[in-house]
Amino acid sequence: MPLIEYENLHLLNQPLFDDYRLAFDEVMTSGWYVLGRSVKNFEQSWARYCGTQYCTGVANGLDALTLSLKACQFAPGDEVLVPSNTYIATILSIVQNQLKPVLVEPELSTYNIDPAAIEAKINSKTRAILVVHLYGKLCNMEAINAIAAKKGLIVIEDCAQAHGAHYKGRKAGNWGSLAAHSFYPTKNLGAMGDAGAVTGNDAALDATIRTLRNYGSKIKYENEQVGVNSRLDEIQAALLTVKLKWLDAIIAHKRTLASLYLEGLKEDFIKPVVQDDYFDVYHIFNIRHPKRDALKKYLLEHQIQTEIHYPLAPNRQHAMKGILDDQPTPLADIIHNTTLSLPISFFHTADDISRVIETMNRF
Ligand SMILES: *Cc1c(COP(=O)(O)O)cnc(C)c1O
Repeated sequence: MPLIEYENLHLLNQPLFDDYRLAFDEVMTSGWYVLGRSVKNFEQSWARYCGTQYCTGVANGLDALTLSLKACQFAPGDEVLVPSNTYIATILSIVQNQLKPVLVEPELSTYNIDPAAIEAKINSKTRAILVVHLYGKLCNMEAINAIAAKKGLIVIEDCAQAHGAHYKGRKAGNWGSLAAHSFYPTKNLGAMGDAGAVTGNDAALDATIRTLRNYGSKIKYENEQVGVNSRLDEIQAALLTVKLKWLDAIIAHKRTLASLYLEGLKEDFIKPVVQDDYFDVYHIFNIRHPKRDALKKYLLEHQIQTEIHYPLAPNRQHAMKGILDDQPTPLADIIHNTTLSLPISFFHTADDISRVIETMNRF
């Protein structure tokens, strides 16, 4: 039996290769390789897609997060609320701004930050809620924005896993004061290298991000701020503009595969919830099972690759000693110990998914 890979970036991108070659050729022959027409085009296209007024391209998703927090000009030691079960990048962006990450537990039903758990973590030092639309499902942004408005907090979104997802018709990237996007190759809108962006509707914040990403400079050789070099690469921007035309088809395919899993998998597996008002894009399709490790091994013996997102909660990482290890997170631990991500890429067929389902239902 052939191996069903968890992901294969060659196969995923293959239908786009001809268009990619044309886009690459255009940048190559233009002779303009940094912050040129391709970056501008992509920024406009991505803002339009997200429904925002502004978009600034940056080098990667971590920079998008780090610069978003930096643009808010919080004081060292200020606190930022963040879900306890996120990917480490979200936490690093807080730590690297000399801010304190305060972990908020997720809902076990959606894996997203639990609005009901937020208020208990707010104190006089709290400045922002950094939400993460994990696995491709939006957080309950109405509830979160209402708490933020009541308490005078800024909301920033980590949209790395949620390109094209929406809640009540409003897309990821259009709910917070700023929203960070990663176009890492495995994301739904993945580049062929590192890339990222920040979207939003605040002209002043966008101008700050734009300045910070390019040495703190608006006018050449005039530096207003202590900036960094985090420019979106011109070639990646050209490729992303090509891929953006495919994004809705990629999402539609993944949603079809997800519906097969949702219908076909037996009830022993805890499946992702489907809720009214939420359009989920299944960056990852995860199930939970108490014998997760045995299940993973069994599937591999049957030529099916799976992944774990993520094996260890951020507060259990060595790098977070002295930073997060005084904040226990039992719900995050449950998720990290039981979650398993099933194949759900653009190149997978309905037959692939049927084989995964049949094999799993025999476990
Ligand atoms: C991928 C990812 C990031 C980081 O993106 P990079 O482009 O790799 O820096 C941040 N947050 C989440 C939730 C992610 O999945």
